[in-house]
Amino acid sequence: MPEPGYYGRFGGAFIPEILVATFDELREAFESARNDPAFWREFEEMMSTYSCRPTPITFAENLTADFGGARIFVKREDLNHTGAHKANNVMGQGLLVKRMGKTRVIAETGAGQHGVATATMAAKLGLECTIYMGEVDVARQRPNVFWMERLGATVVPVTEGSRTLKDAINEAFRDWVTNMDDTHYALGTACGPHPFPEMVSYFQSIVGQEAREQIQASAGKLPDRVYACVGGGSNALGIFSAFLEDDGVELIGVEAGGRGAGIGQHAARLGLDDATVGVAQGYKTYFLQNAEGQMQETHSVAAGLDYVGVSPILADLHEKGRVRFESATDTEVVDALSLTVRREGLIPALESSHAFAHAFKEAPQMSPDEVILINQSGRGDKDIFTVADAFDDPKWKAFIQEKAEAYRG
Ligand SMILES: *Cc1c(COP(=O)(O)O)cnc(C)c1O
Repeated sequence: MPEPGYYGRFGGAFIPEILVATFDELREAFESARNDPAFWREFEEMMSTYSCRPTPITFAENLTADFGGARIFVKREDLNHTGAHKANNVMGQGLLVKRMGKTRVIAETGAGQHGVATATMAAKLGLECTIYMGEVDVARQRPNVFWMERLGATVVPVTEGSRTLKDAINEAFRDWVTNMDDTHYALGTACGPHPFPEMVSYFQSIVGQEAREQIQASAGKLPDRVYACVGGGSNALGIFSAFLEDDGVELIGVEAGGRGAGIGQHAARLGLDDATVGVAQGYKTYFLQNAEGQMQETHSVAAGLDYVGVSPILADLHEKGRVRFESATDTEVVDALSLTVRREGLIPALESSHAFAHAFKEAPQMSPDEVILINQSGRGDKDIFTVADAFDDPKWKAFIQEKAEAYRG
């Protein structure tokens, strides 16, 4: 048996001495909640009355006909409140915070989506909320900052380092060290020190539990392949978790291939060969780092996939050969999004479109008896600024210019 919190040689909890008691408290609270059937029922009830659960699966009839291969089904996590699977994690952690009797939550955010989800949960559950966000991200993600502030959160622009996501994570940990008595750190993905990878995957497993039943009811069989995009890894682990024991179900994680090969051009840790194993931000996994362990620049058209590390649980499943990792480039992703909108009227987020892009490459080679399940982790219409930029839409640019001139005038 590996040590608790380890997945093969990955994971662990590399934390400062001062946080050990806080992590013990969190681990115990999580274990007790997990062993209490009433807690999961409370979680399901919350998600069904506040966030559209169970989310349906949709048969992509037109794309299936276009490709002439496997039947394609889509799990609709885009229908969650605030537009992505992130709601599952934050509402779950929010209920845990209530159980622990804490009154304040903090979180890191890159693009701002986890910040908005956390601020929403805090508003609903009556918690104080502070969001750490790199100064660079605050400047480029104003719509999300706008909503976090309306929801009552304090947004703190982080001016350290590269002023982006990893610096926001460091600041959040610094806050936690000073305020651990009343504060919980609601980490946004299946990364970080134990128990976060396990706890976040636990809340996201609701996606897989539903999907496994739904696909059998709709397609009459288990899927042959399940595709999910991988940033930190939480939506992928959420849907994969229900199929891990089914040998006939192939699981495919699709990472950000960005502008193509070469360090700094992408954010693929397991799908390309540029990442190496190391310890950073409290856990051991594959990081995009140099020989000295300095984190490298990453790039993706999808802000939510733009991260240097990856879930230790996925690193282990990769090493064991249970999950296959691929990557999709920015161009392939924008094309897949365009096609999905046009042919199915579905609007996947740029993140989710990575899973679609790779599934579209493989579907034509599969037989009509086979079934593909794609996790649509979020919706793209809330990201109009990013999506319109990615499409390079001239009418949108003219509209923004007019707005800017009206403000100047
Ligand atoms: C944040 C986000 C992701 C990436 O996070 P994971 O933890 O890898 O799931 C993927 N899709 C959407 C829509 C997101 O908002």
